Amino acid sequence: MICRTNEDFEGMRMAGKITGMALNYAKSLIKPNISTKELDKKIEMYIIEKGAIPSFLNYDGFPASICASVNSIVVHGIPSENTILKEGDIISIDVGVIYNGYNGDAARTFAVGQIDKQTERLVKVTEECFFEGIKHLAVGKRIGEMSEAIQNHAESNGYGVVRELIGHGIGKCLHEAPEVPNYGNRNQGVRVKDGMCLAIEPMINMGSRYVYMCEDGWGIATQDGKPSAHYENTVIVTAKGVEIVTLVEE
Ligand code: MG
Repeated sequence: MICRTNEDFEGMRMAGKITGMALNYAKSLIKPNISTKELDKKIEMYIIEKGAIPSFLNYDGFPASICASVNSIVVHGIPSENTILKEGDIISIDVGVIYNGYNGDAARTFAVGQIDKQTERLVKVTEECFFEGIKHLAVGKRIGEMSEAIQNHAESNGYGVVRELIGHGIGKCLHEAPEVPNYGNRNQGVRVKDGMCLAIEPMINMGSRYVYMCEDGWGIATQDGKPSAHYENTVIVTAKGVEIVTLVEE
């Protein structure tokens, strides 16, 4: 969506804020022995209490309000009472909300207790990929300039960039044009327009970039079984710069 009115800007900011708050709340829940189903139920309740709608629930038939993707699951993990977090795991939590007709979409990868140094670095570099990317995001530039920066940062750290899933435009709908890949080059993609809303979401694998779909038809897992991290924010790009609407101070 292109924000054109004050109502659009305020709508995206409010939806983004609730999304970011839900992720801060999620962080406070992460501990060994909690199931991803319990996380889902608590975060769902939190979103509803804020007067928002969990947008993932029933989206294309998705059966939960959050995606909970542990270790080698890249994204779209279905919360389950059989998936119990343990010390040393990482978990990506992806949350989407609708507030007043506007969508927010964001994800973080959290550590469960102490994690090893290698995995800690993967989580850090994945987050850096987002921030490196948006340095190259501006009105009039091609999306590909950001994509290239994200890919370079990940690959120069020895990691694989997932290609089967990409970021997207966002606004009155959860997934809109344009496509926002985490790989590519500066000559690709549409030119960014003033007021454009994007969900930028690097999915970075410790090993190779290759993934497969799990038997549940949703979860996406690394082929080599190594961990993967995910970091996402919804942003609005204007002549003034990039406004990250889903990043809320804890
Ligand atoms: Mg997204």
